[in-house]
Amino acid sequence: MTTPSGSFRSPTLQEEPLHPRGGAPGAGVQPAIEISGLTKRYGEGDAAVDALKGAAMVVWPGEVVGLIGPSGSGKTTLLKCLGAVIEPSAGRMALAGETIYDHGWKVKDLRALRRDRIGFVFQAPYLIPVLDVTENVALLPMLAGLSNREARDRALRMLAALDVGHRADARVSQLSGGEQQRVSIARALVNEPPVILADEPTAPLDSDRALTVIRILNEMAQRFRTAVIVVTHDEKIIPTFERIYRIRDGRTYEEAGQRRAA
Ligand code: ADP
Ligand code: MG
Repeated sequence: MTTPSGSFRSPTLQEEPLHPRGGAPGAGVQPAIEISGLTKRYGEGDAAVDALKGAAMVVWPGEVVGLIGPSGSGKTTLLKCLGAVIEPSAGRMALAGETIYDHGWKVKDLRALRRDRIGFVFQAPYLIPVLDVTENVALLPMLAGLSNREARDRALRMLAALDVGHRADARVSQLSGGEQQRVSIARALVNEPPVILADEPTAPLDSDRALTVIRILNEMAQRFRTAVIVVTHDEKIIPTFERIYRIRDGRTYEEAGQRRAA
């Protein structure tokens, strides 16, 4: 298992992480994500659909893994379970070493879980057009209880880390597509969640921009020890993953990615 060096932090970023992480796997570190036997049934009786039939996955802090599978295989269902958007039917799920599902929710406050533990990056950036760039990123730390001033400072540091600090006062509509995707990654990272879930984040981008987004996610994963799952069909980026989970008919299969072999 390769592991990121972990301790590097940009001098522009706050010294104290919101959620301190441990060292490397093998040194008592918990996986950022660990699921086993996860099932999800939608509906009942004749109309029941078994979207997940025993998914299993382990992702370590600092890793970016690909989740690849055909349409209807359960990718979005799995991301929604991991993101505490929907409840699985059975199985186990732990985030950062804490069991959050074990045939019944252990953590009741799913909203807090989503806000503090999970960053989402979508295919479309979903930025809020009436807010400027800094406000878009500062919103989440404000919701997490930081003062306006602290939230703004945090947002500015994250924008700088993603090389869009110079666009801090711009309106969303003034940004290029690539800049918008960087801002949406800044927003996903700003509360330093242990987990980032990205659903087809490069689908609308050309090859160069797609690879840039993946490079940024890898850099940020190492810097913040974030575990990142990227759902994708994008042939351009599949070779960039060290590990891949294939998903077919609700079941997951782990394989080594090409990057490690290269
Ligand atoms: P993917 O993201 O890989 O395309 P999904 O997780 O969206 O797959 O869907 C997996 C299966 O679950 C599909 O058969 C889909 O039709 C079904 N499904 C997804 N969402 C629902 C829902 N809300 N109600 C009923 N069936 C659903
Ligand atoms: Mg989907």
